[in-house]
Amino acid sequence: MTGSDQQPSGFETRAIHAGQDADSATGAVIVPIHLATTFAQDAVGKHSGFEYGRSGNPTRSALESCVASLEGAARGLAFSSGMAAEDAVLRALAGPGDHIVIPDDAYGGTFRLVSKVLAPTGVRWSSAALASTDALRAAWTDATKVVWVETPTNPNLGIVDIAAVAEVAHERGAVLVVDNTFATPYLQRPIELGADVVVHSSTKYLGGHSDVVGGFVAVADDELGERIGFLQNAVGGVPSPFDCYLVLRGVKTLGVRMDRHCVNATAVAEMLVRHPAVARVLHPGLASHPGHDVAARQMRGFGGMVSFLAAGGEEAALELVARTKVFTLAESLGAVESLIEHPARMTHASAEGSPLAVDPALVRLSVGIETLDDLLADLDQALSR
Ligand SMILES: *Cc1c(COP(=O)(O)O)cnc(C)c1O
Repeated sequence: MTGSDQQPSGFETRAIHAGQDADSATGAVIVPIHLATTFAQDAVGKHSGFEYGRSGNPTRSALESCVASLEGAARGLAFSSGMAAEDAVLRALAGPGDHIVIPDDAYGGTFRLVSKVLAPTGVRWSSAALASTDALRAAWTDATKVVWVETPTNPNLGIVDIAAVAEVAHERGAVLVVDNTFATPYLQRPIELGADVVVHSSTKYLGGHSDVVGGFVAVADDELGERIGFLQNAVGGVPSPFDCYLVLRGVKTLGVRMDRHCVNATAVAEMLVRHPAVARVLHPGLASHPGHDVAARQMRGFGGMVSFLAAGGEEAALELVARTKVFTLAESLGAVESLIEHPARMTHASAEGSPLAVDPALVRLSVGIETLDDLLADLDQALSR
């Protein structure tokens, strides 16, 4: 696939080829890991487009073009972690005196960044249940500059209507940012629904193999892309060339992985609904989920995450997460292997006592792509003792 005038259109084709022309020097079909920190210039300022490794790197450029294409974005920017990506976005969009609205069940790290890092610099914020645009309107102030949405949310798998929130944000002159980590661009494209900025923890499904920490920002317009790109270079939270290669390699199989994550998670959710040791299952694919209709409209599939409340409360939850054998007890999510965790004591411990605290009976599953029968049998034995 060569030449920028010949853009391949299918998602999987772009995942494998966008930004990844065969290497012009050697013909290598895979983008090389360019370790060079500096690039030769023919004359002062006359160069191939690369000068210094923090400012730009060919392996990083390939990743940035590819994921920007998948998100339907004008520009893509890769970062060293999801949090570095979030920090660059929020610093570009909100300064002292400005106000940010975040979800009342935001990812714990987003809550910590806003409340403990940005708030002391004078940025104001409030949290709202963004599944309702009335709640968003109620949280609005004259200083509101940014609305931050996650959908599905972590760990409650709440759903937010991206198009409806975009309308409210835009009629009032604010920017809409969507954390698309759980859905990935294969299942949901926020920019097509009206979002201005998409962020990812590429550590999760984009990388997909629990072997790289990374972040990504996709921006709908070039002007905003310039502002965030300025911070990427000025602050320097950039990923290494090897990390860029790992994410790019992961993205090639994103479509097939997400298809299998969706199939396995649907079957796990249905099995848990019928299990007497489970009080409630949270998964947007279930017709009983309050966000099911919106999710069915804005997503192509319901994703690989399933959360549930143990009927026996916190004690039962803590016991069962230690009993699984195929599901590994660990933080993080979005990789080929299945993981199980207890959000209140693990990923969301920092939200304890805050409005974002998590139900202690909650168990979160990142359903992997192993053989489905093995996953179902493992959960059944862990729940049935
Ligand atoms: C993990 C995660 C992040 C943070 O990303 P890191 O790569 O861990 O810095 C942000 N948002 C969501 C939804 C996440 O799951």
